[in-house]
Amino acid sequence: MNLGRDNFPELRDAVRTLCGQFDSSYWQAIDEQRAYPEAFVDALTRAGWMSALIPEEFGGSGLSLTEATVIMEEVSRSGGNAGSCHGQMYNMNTLLRHGSAEQKRRYLPKIAAGEMRLQAMGVTEPGAGTDTTKIKTVAVRKGDRYVVNGQKVWTSRLQHSELMILLARTTPLAEVKRKSEGMSIFLVDTKSKGLEVRPIRNMVNHETNQVFIDNLEIPAENLIGEEGKGFRYILDGLNAERILIAAECVGDGYWFVEKASRYASERVVFDRPIAQNQGIQFPIAESYMEIEAANLMRYKAAALYDEKKPCGAEANMAKHLCAKASWEAANVCLQTHGGFGFAAEYDIERKFRESRLYLVAPISTNLILSYIAEHVLGLPRSF
Ligand SMILES: Cc1cc2nc3c(=O)[nH]c(=O)nc-3n(C[C@H](O)[C@H](O)[C@H](O)COP(=O)(O)OP(=O)(O)OC[C@H]3O[C@@H](n4cnc5c(N)ncnc54)[C@H](O)[C@@H]3O)c2cc1C
Repeated sequence: MNLGRDNFPELRDAVRTLCGQFDSSYWQAIDEQRAYPEAFVDALTRAGWMSALIPEEFGGSGLSLTEATVIMEEVSRSGGNAGSCHGQMYNMNTLLRHGSAEQKRRYLPKIAAGEMRLQAMGVTEPGAGTDTTKIKTVAVRKGDRYVVNGQKVWTSRLQHSELMILLARTTPLAEVKRKSEGMSIFLVDTKSKGLEVRPIRNMVNHETNQVFIDNLEIPAENLIGEEGKGFRYILDGLNAERILIAAECVGDGYWFVEKASRYASERVVFDRPIAQNQGIQFPIAESYMEIEAANLMRYKAAALYDEKKPCGAEANMAKHLCAKASWEAANVCLQTHGGFGFAAEYDIERKFRESRLYLVAPISTNLILSYIAEHVLGLPRSF
């Protein structure tokens, strides 16, 4: 089946061909070993897809965000886990939009050449949760460096990345006019002294960590943009992140629908294919419609982003609708497979776990609903 694949045929074919080298036994083994898909990410990097958003002058391919989302969609759709590598795509935007000319000159060519990865972003903290303005990690300027102390949680891909974008408070909360001010972002060498990394074993095979920061020294030239404006820069990057993840969910969604349709046509119970029963075919048809509809919002959000127009509402709606549609499709696919859906060799239980994550991370459902209620519908702020 080729559902939803009517645009960017060459790009899709190229990514699909590469993904085809990493079949379901590869992803099953990686999942079972709780390993990082190093060979896959390496191949994606060497083929240039991981530097899709880096401008050509720095060695990248200078593609649009819409095209970058197609790459991530095809990774998910091939049965792989785009969560192992999507970080570089959206972190790149922060560096591209807010990094200095010197930072871009120093890092982008190396990232484009695959000598370095910028896959990690340390924002979430155990004490602050979604209320990012309450973070406790502090960066204090001392001469030509900042000294950082604090703690992060759920910092993903850190062990497979040379660089991390780190958010820290540079002015105490009590001294700023607005609580979103006084935070800054830094490019951090992940092998620096002062970082202790403890992996978190989790439901998905997602390389993610607790990070204890003890007198970490960051050269002042690694501050991104202006001191105190880091939270704004992070929010800026989140729109790209949401749109990319929406596309991954679309890829997962089509994967579930295709898998369910194929199995339902082949599986014979009571002397006929189970697909002949409306109780089986209707939920699959409904899932397909939900994915198609959500996908429209994904393209709308991506187009607005590429036109450099405001897209906060659309990025949030795209992420929410696509994550919900893919999770519904995951449920339908599992149900269609009956007991076999639980067997690892069918890949469904793995993709089921992977797709569930996106209703929580990188932003949870309630927070999206409150954004739309407040910023689009003008309802009272609830927190
Ligand atoms: C596998 C994984 C990978 C991750 N990777 C990264 C990463 O690389 N970098 C990073 O910085 N973070 C990362 N995160 C963190 C992720 O972004 C957060 O888990 C997510 O934003 C939710 O925050 P929280 O877990 O602190 O939930 P909390 O803020 O503690 O919220 C718990 C629940 O309460 C709800 N809630 C909170 N406040 C309200 C309110 N006012 N009204 C209604 N409901 C509310 C939330 O929606 C949520 O459902 C990752 C998380 C996971 C699980």
